[in-house]
Order: sequence, then C-alpha cells, then structure tokens
Amino acid sequence: MAYLIKGAHVVDPQVGLDDVRDVLVEDKSIVEVAECIDAPDAEVIDGAGKYLVPGLVDMHVHFRDPGFEYKETIASGSRAAAHGGFTDVATMPNTDPVTDTGAEIRYQIDTARRAGLVHVRPMGALTRGEKGESLAEIGDMVMEGASAFSDDGHGVQSAGMMKTCMAYVSQFDRVVCAHCEVESLSKNGVINSGNAATRLGMFGWPPLGEELEIWRDIELCRSTGCALHICHISTAKGLEMVRAAKAEGLPVTCEVTPHHLFLCDEDIDDTYNTNLKMNPPLRKRSDMEALVEGILDGSIDCLVTDHAPHAAHEKDCEWEIAFFGTIGLETSLPLMLTNLVSTGKMSWNRLVEVMAINPRNLLRCKPVKIEAGSQADLTLIDPKREIDVTKEYFVGKSKNSAFLGSHLTGVATDVLMAGKRTLTDGVVA
Ligand SMILES: [Zn+2]
Repeated sequence: MAYLIKGAHVVDPQVGLDDVRDVLVEDKSIVEVAECIDAPDAEVIDGAGKYLVPGLVDMHVHFRDPGFEYKETIASGSRAAAHGGFTDVATMPNTDPVTDTGAEIRYQIDTARRAGLVHVRPMGALTRGEKGESLAEIGDMVMEGASAFSDDGHGVQSAGMMKTCMAYVSQFDRVVCAHCEVESLSKNGVINSGNAATRLGMFGWPPLGEELEIWRDIELCRSTGCALHICHISTAKGLEMVRAAKAEGLPVTCEVTPHHLFLCDEDIDDTYNTNLKMNPPLRKRSDMEALVEGILDGSIDCLVTDHAPHAAHEKDCEWEIAFFGTIGLETSLPLMLTNLVSTGKMSWNRLVEVMAINPRNLLRCKPVKIEAGSQADLTLIDPKREIDVTKEYFVGKSKNSAFLGSHLTGVATDVLMAGKRTLTDGVVA
C-alpha cells in the first residue's frame, strides 16, 4: 500500500525540517520527502493546514493485560493509543501475573501484533512479582524485547535491592524507570499533604515521600552508572534534583504527565471528583508551574500519560477507597496543543522532542525520522480541530478521565504505523 501525504507542515528537528512537504510512503517505509511529489498509484492523504510529525510515543501506560482485562486490554488500549495519535507505547509491568519473565514480555508483543494498531514495547519488572525482594529475569526479558525496566506502581523500598537492580540492568543497554515512593511516608495518603488535605480532611501523601527516593536513586545512578529515568515527576524539588544531576552529567532523565502539568490540588473540591485521585497526587500550584517550566526548558525529557484505566465501580465511590489514576492516551496531545503549543509557550520542535524523539531514545528504539528510508510511523495533526472530552469521545475501555468536560483544540487525525493506516480522519481502523 502506498500513501502520499500532500502539503502538510512537516516538523522533525532530527533532520532540520520545519516546512511544507509532500511525503510518500510505500509499504512500511518513507520513500520520498520533497516539495512536490507525483505518485498516481498512491492514496492521497490531504495534509493542508495540518502538521506531520514522527509517530508519537507514550512510554508510560497501563494496559492491564493480563489480569485486569475488565479495565483495559492490549487490544482496547491499542485503540485508545491510535485514537490519541500514538504509534508506540511502553506498557508497565504491574499486570497479573506481573510481567517479570521473558514469556510475559513475549505475550504482550504477540498480542499487540495481532491487534495491529500500535507498537507495544513492554517494560519488564525489576523485581520478581514487583515485591522488591529478588531480581526478576532481566536478561531473559531483554532477549524477548523488554524496552526498559520498572517496578512502577511501587517504589523499590530497599535501597540495597534497588542498587542490585541498577547494577544488573546497567549491563544491558536499558534504562531503569523509577516510580519514586517511600511507602512509610506515603502510607494511607490519598491526596497531597498540605492545604487540600487539611481542607478536605484526608490523609496526606507528602512530597518528601517522592523526593527522598528520587535523591536515593540519583545517588545509586552515580554509584552504579545505570541510566535512570524518574517516572511521573510531580514536585518542584524533585525536578531541581534531576536538573542538578543532569548538570553533573549523570545519565538521569525524567517524565511528566499532563495531569501534573495542567492540574493541581486546588482543583480538588468538595465534589470529591475521584478522577483527580492520582499516584503521585496532584501537587501544589507552584509545583505545577515548575513542571511546566521544566518541560519547556528541557529539564523534563518526556511527556507521558500514565494511562491508568479503571472500571466505573472503582472510581464511583468514596475518595478514600477509589483507585488511583486517570486515563490519558486520548487527551494527551490535545492538552499539549491547547495549553502550550497554541499559546506560543512551546514550539512544535519541542513538542516532537518530548512526545516522539526522547521517549523513543529512552526505550532504545530505532529513531523514526521524516526522511527516505525511515520506518513510516507518522502522526498527522489538525491544530484547529476541536473536541469535547465526553465519555463518548473515548474509544478505550475505561472512561476515568481527569479531563472529562474539557473543550480542547488540536488533535491527531491520521496515523500510519509501519505504513499501515491505524487512524483515518479521527477514526480508528
Ligand atoms: Zn507509577
């Protein structure tokens, strides 16, 4: 199959492209990029007024498969990813059973291939069962295609165990992704410690519970040399530590979610909207502002969603017992376009770095560039198309979005994944 994407504004800082071009795709690859291409046999995709970028990557999602398929499956999560404009996702290993062997990695890759909508690049657990007690089968998982390693959902509580994990992973060309949480400090916490917890009378999850482990893991990075990626950073002080580590030249990177960029604990009011209950929690306004600064100035490397689907009954209950997390794949790009790009705060180049180039590098995937010879993983974006975020808008299985009720401008309309059209004018194949 051949596609000719006509007249889109192509943005790819890797090849210095920021201009209107035609792009011809044949089978799985880009075969030509030029000012004007004629290809009578190719199906034309009209790119006028749109932006074409390397396929978007979300390196932190939960597809709940195997084990919690009532929330999301690899197939339904793949639909949500394509709908959101993504060509690649990295799935977290806190499934049931935990993804801690090569066979589990292989299961996810094979199942995703059958769904055929997005490249799923599973992460393996650091420790067996994510229990923090003994090493998982890291080497076996690398052989089967694990993209990175994480005990996401939990911090590795023992510093000694984390050191062993990092020393071991450093022998492979893989990154350790750390969910930083000291459980003796976050215990019972359901909301950020401080004004909101006091106002609403709930147990607080203090910033220190995150920052202490960020500090520890940066020190373990220094001692082991293992590449360290801090998951869903949520506090200004945590970000300062990452900045300092980078300035020192340590292999430390970090990611942020749209909910930590665009929401804070002031948004939680006495309606107790449980879709705003997260781990880590929404922090203070000053933290949120620092994170926006960080993603603009390059201190934060990636935008991720921490897409965390939950069934209605797991959210439709008292705040204290509601599950943590929000879905994110289908609103991530629209939120960035609405809040940062269309307001002129973030350039298209920077958007492509944090949503495509940097996560692909961290997952050790081959770069996708908009040039001849590259794999045709491409996202076409209409910066003017408007969406209402309603339950009906979502194609994934769960509807627990922190952004329900929002009106956003700018969305992916078409996606090619290895040359296959997975999204056509906003509709998943
Ligand atoms: Zn996490």
